[in-house]
Amino acid sequence: MTTIEQVKENIQIVSNSSENCFTETQLKTFSEVRKAFKELSPITCTRCKYCLPCPQGIPIPDIFDTYNQAKIYDDLRRMKILYTWIPEDKRAHVCKECHICEEKCPQKLPIVSLLKKANTLLT
Ligand code: SF4
Ligand code: SF4
Repeated sequence: MTTIEQVKENIQIVSNSSENCFTETQLKTFSEVRKAFKELSPITCTRCKYCLPCPQGIPIPDIFDTYNQAKIYDDLRRMKILYTWIPEDKRAHVCKECHICEEKCPQKLPIVSLLKKANTLLT
C-alpha cells in the first residue's frame, strides 16, 4: 500500500468479508494463478520507491516494472524499446553497487543483482 486511499480501501474490504468466505473453486483458482505467476519469476518490487533516489539516477522501480512486463506478458520486443527510452547514463549498467538502495528496500530485494538481470534481458 502506498497511499492512504489504498489503506482505507483494504480496511473496507476486510471489514466486509468474513472467515472462510471463498469457495473451493475460488481457492483452487487463486492457487493456480499464484503458481503460474511464480513460474514467470517476476521481480517482487511493489514500486514503493523507498529505494530512491539512487545517486546515479537509476529509476530502479521503472526498470523492474519493464522487466516484469517483458516476462509476464511475453513482450520482450516492446519492453526492450521502452528500456531505450531511459537515458543511457541512467540505465541499470551504470550502477556503482553502493547498495544504498538495498538498505532502504522493505522487500529486502537484492537490487544490485536484479538490475544486472534486468539489464541482461532488456539489452
Ligand atoms: S546500488 Fe546501484 S542502484 Fe542502488 S543506489 Fe547504488 S548505484 Fe543506485
Ligand atoms: S524499495 Fe524495493 S520494493 Fe520499493 S520500489 Fe524500490 S526496489 Fe521496489
